[in-house]
Amino acid sequence: MKTRRAVFLDRDGTLNEDTGYPADFRQVHIYPAAFEAVRLLRRAAFATVVVTHQSGLGRGYFDEGELDALHAGFLAEFARRGAPLDGLYSCPHAPAERGGAVCSCAKPQPGLGLRAARELGLDLTVSYMVGDKPDDVLFGLNIGATPVLVLTGYGRRSEARLAARGVRPAHTAAGILAAAAWILERERPSGHGPV
Ligand SMILES: [Mg+2]
Ligand SMILES: [Zn+2]
Repeated sequence: MKTRRAVFLDRDGTLNEDTGYPADFRQVHIYPAAFEAVRLLRRAAFATVVVTHQSGLGRGYFDEGELDALHAGFLAEFARRGAPLDGLYSCPHAPAERGGAVCSCAKPQPGLGLRAARELGLDLTVSYMVGDKPDDVLFGLNIGATPVLVLTGYGRRSEARLAARGVRPAHTAAGILAAAAWILERERPSGHGPV
C-alpha cells in the first residue's frame, strides 16, 4: 500500500471553539477557516485526520452514543462544506488521576497516531500535527511528525508552557488556516525548506 502524508488535527481549540465538554453537535462551533484549511490540505494530497481527547466520556459527561452522534455530525458538516476528513480518532479515557484507565491513546502518547497510520496507510515522518495544547505538540514529536502550534483555544497559554519546558513547535500559527498555509508553503517543491 502506498503511504500518504497526513496532517493530524486536534479538534477543540483548533478546528472548533473549545467550549469544554460538548455533548451535542449543536454545541460545536467550527471555525469557518477550518473548512478552507482542510480543503487546501486535501488539494495538496494530504490526508486530514482528527485526533482528539474526549475525556468527557470517561468523566461521565456524555455517553458513547452521544459522542458517536456528535462526531457523525462533525464529519458530515466537513463533508457538506467540501472538506471531507479522512479519519477521526478519539481517546475516551478520563485522566488517570481522575480514576481513568491508564491508556496509550491519550495525547501526548502516540496511540491514536499509530492506529491511524496503520488503518489509513500514513507515513508519519512526513506528516504534521496541528493543535493548541502542549500535549498536541508533544504528540506530534512522539509520532515523528512536524508539530505546529495554533494560538486559538489554549494556544497562547501553551506557547508559554512549552517555552518553559524548552519544547519548540516547528511553527506557531495564528490559527488553523495560517497553519495550513505554512505547511503548504513548506511543502512546495520550489520552497526553501524548513525554516
Ligand atoms: Mg485542543
Ligand atoms: Zn485513551
